Amino acid sequence: MPDLNDNIALLDNSKRVILFPEAILIVDPFGNVINVDQQALKMFGGLTEQEIVGKSFFDLIVEQDKLYVEQTFQKILVEGHISDLQCNATKKDGTYLRASLSGTLFIDKLGTSKEITVVVHDITPHLSELEQVKETQRQLAEAQQIARFGSWEWDIITNKFHWTDEMYKLFSLEPQKILVDNDTLIEKAQTEDKEKIKEFIATSLGDGSGILDFRIVNPESKATQWLHVTSKTFYDAAHKPLRMVGTVHDVTHEKEIDEVKTQFLSLASHQMRGPLTTINWNAEMLLQQQVEGLSESQKKYIQELYNASKRIVLLTNDLLTVSELELGRMPFKPEKLSLSKIAKRVLEDYERTIAEKKINFKETYAEQLPEIETDLFLLKTIFHELIANAVNYTPPEGTIAMNISIDPKRANTFLIAISDSGYGIPQADQEKVFSKMFRATNAKTKVMGGTGLGLYIVKLILKVNGGEIWFSSEENKGSTFYVAIPFVPKNMDSAIKLK
Ligand code: ADP
Repeated sequence: MPDLNDNIALLDNSKRVILFPEAILIVDPFGNVINVDQQALKMFGGLTEQEIVGKSFFDLIVEQDKLYVEQTFQKILVEGHISDLQCNATKKDGTYLRASLSGTLFIDKLGTSKEITVVVHDITPHLSELEQVKETQRQLAEAQQIARFGSWEWDIITNKFHWTDEMYKLFSLEPQKILVDNDTLIEKAQTEDKEKIKEFIATSLGDGSGILDFRIVNPESKATQWLHVTSKTFYDAAHKPLRMVGTVHDVTHEKEIDEVKTQFLSLASHQMRGPLTTINWNAEMLLQQQVEGLSESQKKYIQELYNASKRIVLLTNDLLTVSELELGRMPFKPEKLSLSKIAKRVLEDYERTIAEKKINFKETYAEQLPEIETDLFLLKTIFHELIANAVNYTPPEGTIAMNISIDPKRANTFLIAISDSGYGIPQADQEKVFSKMFRATNAKTKVMGGTGLGLYIVKLILKVNGGEIWFSSEENKGSTFYVAIPFVPKNMDSAIKLK
C-alpha cells in the first residue's frame, strides 16, 4: 500500500503534468504512429500528418533516450499503462523538448493488443535548474562527439582535472573511468612530442594561453592521430595561476590534406624551377652580352623579362623551401661555420641595391665569436631573408645596422640583430608577421613583389635549430629583428633526422 506521502507525490506529479500542453498520439504495439491530434503536430515543431503517421514514434526520441523509451514501452504491453516517462524528443527544426510520456494500452474484445494511446506533455519550461544544466551538458557532449572535440579543465590550486567524455575518447580511454592529469597527455603523446607538451604547459602557465599540434598513436589501429590542443589560464590579482581550461580537437584529416597540398606544392615548384631558371639565365645572357642589333626598347623589354623571371625564381625557391621544411624533408647537414663570414657573404648579394639606395649599412661583430654548427643553406637563408627585408623596407638614404654577438641571456647562443630606419610594421599587423604569406598593409603599397614567406621560413628554420626570432617595430620609424640561434642545434638528434 502506498503511504500518504506517496499519494501526495503522485497528486503533485499529476497536477504538475496536467498544467503543460498535452498532445495525443495513437501508436500500434510496435510503436508506429496511427493517428495524431493537432496539438502533437504543433508540439513537435509544426510537423505535418504525412511526416509522422506511419513512422516510428521512437524516431521522435533523441538517440541517447531511444533504447530506454523503447524498453519502457514494452511494459505497456504487459502492464497496460505507464505514466510520466521523461525523455528528450527532437522537434522538426532539430531543437529539443523535454517530454513526459504516459501510455495506455487499448485491448479489443478478443483480448488482442490493438493500440496504445500516448499522451505527451511538453515540460521543457519547467525543467529544474539541475535538469537544465544536465540538458546543456548533454547537448555539449553531443556537439563534442560530432565535432570530435574534447574540452578540459585544470584546477591548478587543488591539482584536480576534469575531462569531458570526448576528451577520454580522443585518447582511447573509457570516459570518466580513470583519474587524468597532465601526465596522461604526456604519456599518450608520441615520444618525439612529449617535450613539446611539457613546453606547452609551461607556456600556457606563463603566457596565459597556448596552442600545440601533437601526435598520438591509436592503440587499436596503430595509426598516427594529430591532436590540436589550446589553453587559456586564469590568474588571481597577484598573477598566480588558478585555473586552466582548454580544448583538444582531432585534426588528423586536416593534417593529411595539408600534407597532400604541401607535397603538390613541392612537386610543382620543383618542376617549375628548371624552365624558369633557363628563362632567367637566357635573359641575363642577352642583357650581359649586349647582343648586336638590339634596339633600346628591345633591351628594355628584355630587362623587364629578366626582372620578372628573377622574381618568379625567388618565389619558386621560397615555395620549395617552405614545402620541404613543412614536410620535414629539408636536408640538414650540420657543419662548423663562421657566422660573420656567412653574414658577409650573403651581404655581397645586396651591395649593389644598398649602394643604389644610398643606404648607410653598418656591421658589427663581437670579437672571438665561436663557430656555429648548423646547415649552411639554412643559415644563409636566415641572413638572406632578414637582410632582404631590411633593405627592401628601408627608403633611400636610410640606415641599417647588423650586429652579431653572444646572447647575454641565453647560454651558448648567438644573438643576431638587424635594425633599420625603414617603414616599420603597423601595430595592428605585428602579431601576424610570422604567418605564412602575410604582408603588412604598408608593405603591400610600398614594396611590390614580396611573398610573405621569408619570415615564416626563418621561423621554421629556427624550429629545426632550436632558436628564436622576435622583433620590435614602429611604423615610419623602423624595425629591429632579433634572432637567437644556439651554437649547436638544441635537439641535434631531431635536426639530423631531417636529413
Ligand atoms: P615579404 O616577402 O613580404 O618581405 P616576409 O615574410 O619576409 O615577406 O615579411 C612579412 C612582412 O613583414 C612583410 O611583408 C612586411 O610587411 C613585414 N616586414 C618584414 N621585415 C620588415 C622590416 N624590416 N621592415 C618593415 N616591415 C617588415
